Amino acid sequence: MLRVEGMIEVLADHIVHQIAAGEVIERPASALKELVENAIDAGASSIFISYRQGGLNTLIVEDNGAGISLDEIPLAFRAHATSKLKRLEDFDALRTYGFRGEALCSLASVSDLEIWSSRSEDSRGVKARSTFGRESAPEAADRRLGTQILVKSLFERHPARLKFMKSERSETLALSQVFRRYALAHPEISWTFKDLSSGKEVRLPKQSFVDRVLWFFDTVEKKEWFEVQSESSDWKISAYALQPRYIGQRKSGIHLFLNRRPLKDTKLEFAVRRGFEGFTEQTREIACALYLEGSAKLFDVNVHPMKHEVRFIHPEAIFSQIVSTFRPKLERLHQEVWGLNEIEPPQSISSREFAKPFTLRASDSAAASFYEVAQQNLGLQQKLALGSESYEFLTSLDDTYLFVKKGGDLFVFDQHALHERIIYERLLTAYKTEQNIDSQRLLFPVPLVLENAEVLLEQEEILSKLGFELRLWSDNKIQIVSAPSILKRDYKEVLRKLLESLQLPVETCVSEVLSTLACHSAVRAHDRLQPEEIIRLLKDFSEMDAVGHCPHGRPTFVPFKIKDLEKLFHRVL
Ligand code: ADP
Ligand code: MG
Repeated sequence: MLRVEGMIEVLADHIVHQIAAGEVIERPASALKELVENAIDAGASSIFISYRQGGLNTLIVEDNGAGISLDEIPLAFRAHATSKLKRLEDFDALRTYGFRGEALCSLASVSDLEIWSSRSEDSRGVKARSTFGRESAPEAADRRLGTQILVKSLFERHPARLKFMKSERSETLALSQVFRRYALAHPEISWTFKDLSSGKEVRLPKQSFVDRVLWFFDTVEKKEWFEVQSESSDWKISAYALQPRYIGQRKSGIHLFLNRRPLKDTKLEFAVRRGFEGFTEQTREIACALYLEGSAKLFDVNVHPMKHEVRFIHPEAIFSQIVSTFRPKLERLHQEVWGLNEIEPPQSISSREFAKPFTLRASDSAAASFYEVAQQNLGLQQKLALGSESYEFLTSLDDTYLFVKKGGDLFVFDQHALHERIIYERLLTAYKTEQNIDSQRLLFPVPLVLENAEVLLEQEEILSKLGFELRLWSDNKIQIVSAPSILKRDYKEVLRKLLESLQLPVETCVSEVLSTLACHSAVRAHDRLQPEEIIRLLKDFSEMDAVGHCPHGRPTFVPFKIKDLEKLFHRVL
């Protein structure tokens, strides 16, 4: 048996700190993050960052913030020394990035670190140094404004840590990402980011939020962006985002900030995507900066020393607030783009135009071109009078695409996408106004094998709102007794979607299920429609707002304006 001889000893302080440093300071970029946060906490309005060799050789952060006094400077190097949190009760009101008092101590233990600082009220400045955890006594120094921290030879005495460093290029890139995200969080601060080897620098003046966002996304086209805001009792949200029509053609990325703290949170990113759903197919390509402001009581960032992770007390509330922050504005933008706002609210469509039933001659009713027949029978009745404009159904292609003339423009509809969207809107309205969706008792209960069927059966309320009645048969086996009347098949897909979406916030879960329900109830591509059905679809369409996309984001129609045709035929450029 192996025995370790020796005495238990308390580790020397500087060794403890070196071990702990690994948690906070992983690479130059994490050092930069801590230094920049300290500068912002000190109230700086200007921050100057410079570096050499990806920050491993040299990393300097200078600010014009409050500064540190001569007596406090030794404390700044000490573990758990912070000027930001005195009592535990203060925690909820805390607005600073720092509060653990770990960063400087950790950084000082793994580098050769110098601080110069002065406060406006002192006649002299101070200077202090720590070389790999060994401090020298602080001295008086020339007065400068704010604080300058110079980090040299990071990890030089920690070959194990150095081994994990990537190329100079990727360390530089990581530095740049830290700088860019904090600059995006703080447009009111002027920034400089300088590579001392090449002399290259990025300079940012103090800017408005919009201008800083445009810089971040490498664009000058302000008109391609929009701004939204919302306020609830808990959260204030403001966001800047690229309009749907430019999505996919410009730089993308969703950047979240919680009380100006850069935040990675896939659920909240998903909420942004959800907000855009139906307005773009490319929700992966959204470009957006979103700022959340709320009391520290509502979340916990103290999960990990690097504060990467946040836990929200009510994640669902914030999720749905984000979604509804975007939607009204996106609907308005959508209407502007497709000119739908030109359509006046539908007047009652004169009964004369629709009263006459369409009679198709038996011989033609099957295959052939029933549209021609329809055309003969219908004549002008295919026109829907809508205010001054009218829709005129021309023809259908491949039993999928409906060609419609409106004013001087041509609209091509996808019959499935169109029907799906119409059904979805109806279901959603029914759901929101607390009506149960029409349900139908099945002649014979439909058996279904579904994993976790018990979980589904617990959702009685939502099931009955959706028009389902289920019965447990045996383990994982259920019987569908009643189902939504519009659904004629694919019961399983809808129920599986419900099961899958149960852990999402209620609002999201419902819209997932309703869109699946709509998809499976809608006419499909290549379904041969009766002329009445086509007219019905167009009429329903004309009575709804903002239905330019099916719930999954595919367009329901594509407009060809005369202008577009002229371009296609090179009549105009
Ligand atoms: P924390 O930020 O969690 O308080 P740090 O180790 O990062 O801990 O910093 C320790 C203390 O040093 C801070 O609380 C602050 O008082 C002081 N300090 C650090 N950097 C600066 C700076 N740039 N300007 C003014 N004070 C600073
Ligand atoms: Mg700090």
